[in-house]
Amino acid sequence: MNSAELSPSAGRLVVVGGGTAGAEAAFAARSAGWEGEIVILSDEPYPPYHRPPLSKDLLTAESTFAGPDPLKGAPLYAKKNIDLRLGAAVERIDRKNQVLHLNAARTLSYDRLILAVGGRARILPILARFDRQPSNVHVLRTVDECARLRTSFQTGKNLLIVGAGYIGLEVAAAAIKAGQRVVVLEAAPRVLARVTAPEVSRFFQREHARRGVEIYTATTIDDLSLTSDGKVDRVSTSDGAEYAIDNMVVGVGLEPHVQLAQDAGLEIGNGIVVDDDMVTSDPKILALGDCADFHSEIYGRRVRIESVANAVEHARRAAATLTGGQPKAWQVPWFWSNQYGHSLKIVGLSTGYDDTRIIDDPESDSFAVEYLRDGRLIAVDAINHAAAFQSGKKRISEIVHA
Ligand SMILES: Cc1cc2nc3c(=O)[nH]c(=O)nc-3n(C[C@H](O)[C@H](O)[C@H](O)COP(=O)(O)OP(=O)(O)OC[C@H]3O[C@@H](n4cnc5c(N)ncnc54)[C@H](O)[C@@H]3O)c2cc1C
Repeated sequence: MNSAELSPSAGRLVVVGGGTAGAEAAFAARSAGWEGEIVILSDEPYPPYHRPPLSKDLLTAESTFAGPDPLKGAPLYAKKNIDLRLGAAVERIDRKNQVLHLNAARTLSYDRLILAVGGRARILPILARFDRQPSNVHVLRTVDECARLRTSFQTGKNLLIVGAGYIGLEVAAAAIKAGQRVVVLEAAPRVLARVTAPEVSRFFQREHARRGVEIYTATTIDDLSLTSDGKVDRVSTSDGAEYAIDNMVVGVGLEPHVQLAQDAGLEIGNGIVVDDDMVTSDPKILALGDCADFHSEIYGRRVRIESVANAVEHARRAAATLTGGQPKAWQVPWFWSNQYGHSLKIVGLSTGYDDTRIIDDPESDSFAVEYLRDGRLIAVDAINHAAAFQSGKKRISEIVHA
């Protein structure tokens, strides 16, 4: 336990990163009794906002672009005495002197530091050879990227999506609604292969096909060509096909932002390594959310989880650590996705499952898959099936906390 070393809860707490993990940590620390200054440094121009709508409601052409959906109302920052500084990018951590070096040659000292720096969209290897990403290639992580992608959605345009994970498929659902021709390429043999059972993959593949999305699995890009103004205009694929495209979306996962921590000499694994108190290899520094590599008590192994629920849980745990409080027991991780009005809710981590149990008819619009390992329930995917989700969540928690 590092908690004792981290009390008392005074001095300046600096949070780097204004995403869910960072904002929630600042507010949770204040609620838990952190008495000193709290500063959030965010390199984005907007106050912390919800990211899930970027690939869902905010992207659909039917609605007018609403802009970022703030996590906290603006007056709350003043009310809780939280100093939110936007456009503030931390470039270096001087651990010896406990000083941050920011853009525009600014510095800021800290007594305790939280790294809630998230990650960046992974670049497709075939595009890595370009110094600048072609201007019609999109990724989706920020509200500005969402606005840019949305602007490119025009009836009759050809959109190629690389990656049939959640973000790729959610973008496909929004793009087909906007009247585009949508082709999805997936290297794995089925969509959502990394995270779900074949029944769930089949359901979503069917729903997309019904609406005209063309999905090609076990297919990768072989080559592509650029126009003189730097746009990808043609893509040839491993199955011998060739596509003329107007825009491309790359949704092939996230790379956690570890450089800042790595340069500062902190331990790095599949993210910034933290202990059960969210403390890094430096007792003054914590790390949270998408960027944190932590030990899951529930699954008995180290994990890095990209979800809102995980970010909020980490934030509360960090607040307890900083104020000498007792953290709540670990919760079973959960996640959601929406496509065509279908709600997919996932509880637990299915990696390593050796058996599945299907609840209700997978050919219908409402069913669930329970994942088991050595006879123990480890995860549930519920499609339009709130009862299976709730029951799964309860049963996994009971096994863990028994
Ligand atoms: C399009 C999209 C859809 C999603 N949909 C879902 C969903 O349906 N359900 C779900 O549970 N989760 C979803 N997620 C994931 C979820 O949004 C994240 O897991 C969650 O927001 C936690 O993020 P975070 O705060 O750890 O990191 P982030 O949200 O990435 O925030 C990190 C912040 O730190 C800033 N930063 C980084 N480095 C520095 C630096 N050096 N100095 C200053 N600032 C810095 C970044 O710019 C960013 O603002 C989605 C994510 C995306 C992108």
